[in-house]
Amino acid sequence: MEDHLKLLFPPEEIHLAVTRLANEIRRDFAGKMPLFIGILKGSFIFLSDLVRASKIPLEIDFIRAISYGSRHVSSGDVRITKDIETDITNRHVILVEDIVDTGLTLNVIVERMKAKNPADLKICALVEKHIRREMPVKIDYLGLSAKDGFLVGYGLDYNEKYRYLPGIYIIEKQV
Ligand code: 5GP
Repeated sequence: MEDHLKLLFPPEEIHLAVTRLANEIRRDFAGKMPLFIGILKGSFIFLSDLVRASKIPLEIDFIRAISYGSRHVSSGDVRITKDIETDITNRHVILVEDIVDTGLTLNVIVERMKAKNPADLKICALVEKHIRREMPVKIDYLGLSAKDGFLVGYGLDYNEKYRYLPGIYIIEKQV
């Protein structure tokens, strides 16, 4: 059986949200040379659109976290498989995440970053799924809100598929 995808956020709606976030970040960080840290892999398209829309000098780095256990039952066991390469001491850091679901991944990364004494640590997320939150996460710049459901497209995958889609879809049936 093929996966059935239902469009949730069309490209135009994503574009509007990304532009709004970029404007907010420009207002707060122009002249501060912020460091955007993309959380791999899902944020790569969001990050690339966000940095272009922000139109301010900035730097980027990446971190990759893998959460063990089933996608639908969070185990809380989050492992960093690729760390940042930049010294963030006294830097203005913006963590760029695709989706905040239970909040467990972001919590582990935030604690790890805080320990390195940045001047400032903000969170920018494209989508939040509030209903599934297990750990409180303060999202400073939020694009879109979704109910529960598994989302794909615009960088988000299901078993590495669908990242290329320009919109965001809910998978209604998975094989
Ligand atoms: P959390 O730790 O907040 O439960 O999950 C965060 C990570 O799980 C996100 O960075 C994302 O990679 C992945 N994730 C959570 N929900 C979804 C979803 O609906 N679709 C996809 N493709 N990934 C998700």
